[in-house]
Amino acid sequence: MKFTDLGLNDELLRAVHEAGYEEPTPIQAQAIPVVLMGRDVLGCAQTGTGKTASFTLPMMEILASGRAKSRMPRSLILEPTRELAAQVADNFDTYGKYQKLTKALLIGGSSMEEQLKVLNRGADVLIATPGRLLDVFERGHLLMTDVKVLVIDEADRMLDMGFIPDVEKIVSLLSPMRTTLLFSATMPKEIKRLADKFLTNPKEITVSKPASTADTITQALIKLRAPSKAPDAAQKVKRDRLRSLIAEQEEISNALVFCNLKRDVDVVYRSLEKHGLSAARLHGDMVQSVRMDTLEKFKKNEVTILVCSDVAARGLDISTVSHVFNFDIPTHAEDYVHRIGRTGRAGRSGRAFTFVMPEDRKYLEQIEKLIGKPIPLLGEAVEAPAKTDDAKVENAKADADTSNTLAEAKGTDDKDASDKPKRSRSRGGRGRKKAETTTEDNANTINDTQADAQPVEKKAKQKPERKSVPKSERKPSPKPKNNDNDDIGASPWGDNMPAFLSRSVELPKS
Ligand code: AMP
Repeated sequence: MKFTDLGLNDELLRAVHEAGYEEPTPIQAQAIPVVLMGRDVLGCAQTGTGKTASFTLPMMEILASGRAKSRMPRSLILEPTRELAAQVADNFDTYGKYQKLTKALLIGGSSMEEQLKVLNRGADVLIATPGRLLDVFERGHLLMTDVKVLVIDEADRMLDMGFIPDVEKIVSLLSPMRTTLLFSATMPKEIKRLADKFLTNPKEITVSKPASTADTITQALIKLRAPSKAPDAAQKVKRDRLRSLIAEQEEISNALVFCNLKRDVDVVYRSLEKHGLSAARLHGDMVQSVRMDTLEKFKKNEVTILVCSDVAARGLDISTVSHVFNFDIPTHAEDYVHRIGRTGRAGRSGRAFTFVMPEDRKYLEQIEKLIGKPIPLLGEAVEAPAKTDDAKVENAKADADTSNTLAEAKGTDDKDASDKPKRSRSRGGRGRKKAETTTEDNANTINDTQADAQPVEKKAKQKPERKSVPKSERKPSPKPKNNDNDDIGASPWGDNMPAFLSRSVELPKS
């Protein structure tokens, strides 16, 4: 199928052509003609499938005739986060460059006054987060009775973020004479209920299995264990392993490091930065202008590693992300799919590493159940198809000794898991200094995390002849120069830091 077969006008076709799209993606091919006929759509699609254009393009075609009145938008797109809303607005600029459509963005964290000015001039398209939209409505600045097309994007994310009551309220304010499109990466029961309520005889379009992971992503699991019960011991092990893992990568174009808590985002970011890496951070407590600025720098590749909370996980379209590191395993299985979906986009290959501690076993089981397969241990992971070659698979087999070593460690972990309280780790705080200054802790960390696990293909290139060495005969890995504190002092790579990691960028402080 070609874009010219879809029923879009010449201005849109020209813009799409200039965006470099040769043919519609499956969701575009299926959704665009249906929306143009005025039928509702229930789309089960991950980001990275081209779903944004699947609703923006037909919407722009429908809005091509007619004009918006002041404060009365003709279409509405609801997004769960400000970043996604801003991204959809960018899409409108790209596809609408030859059309005279106006758009307004209503998102928290930016000046409402400026947003209202745009709305007052009349907006064909209103892109909003639910909270700010209701706020503006309740202040009497908005009438939604003219909305002809409604898009509820990332519905499962709305659900996770507790926005469903707001969304229900917003929909109750719209005229029933409208086309409604609802997109969600996963289809939990609550979203199905919402779809039954809001959509009339929708065309159901599923472009990939719900919650499936793209096969362009090589996934690997790294089992770690805290060397002691000291506060922060677990997080420190992870920080050490994160840095060594980053150093082991052949090339990182852009990487996301996901933490479950905002304060861990800060700690990990500072740790990477202090070790001379090109890093930035992104989480919901930062002011909006800094969030946008940080994201922009990351997208422009001025900063290599973005440490973030799940706010960055959904839908962000950064096609160059080559690596995702789950510093903390996500506690919601769906978040795993979204997080790792930031890499391996548009047919590129990507890598996703997930740290797992014994107490995380429950979350790992939920993730593996959701994606329908086990995540291979590092060393067992076979390269994603786009990059697979026989030699690498052979190397993976030849390196089974490394996996065995990891399996041993796994056995111990599993035993520990039943005895330990769930997610008992402590982050930062008073006990932290003590944990980081314990020599024994450092030694354990290095043995556990540096000696045992390295990516298969990298090792194969460096040391093809390596034989299995029993644990008892292994030499301890060299300790970093700064034994006392992983976050302060010289880089563990000394002069050998890979060039792609050492770009330094000034970012505004949040
Ligand atoms: P989305 O799933 O909407 O986040 O889109 C993911 C990426 O695919 C974005 O970078 C889009 O610019 C790109 N994209 C969308 N449609 C097409 C297409 N038909 N051909 C190639 N790339 C596309």
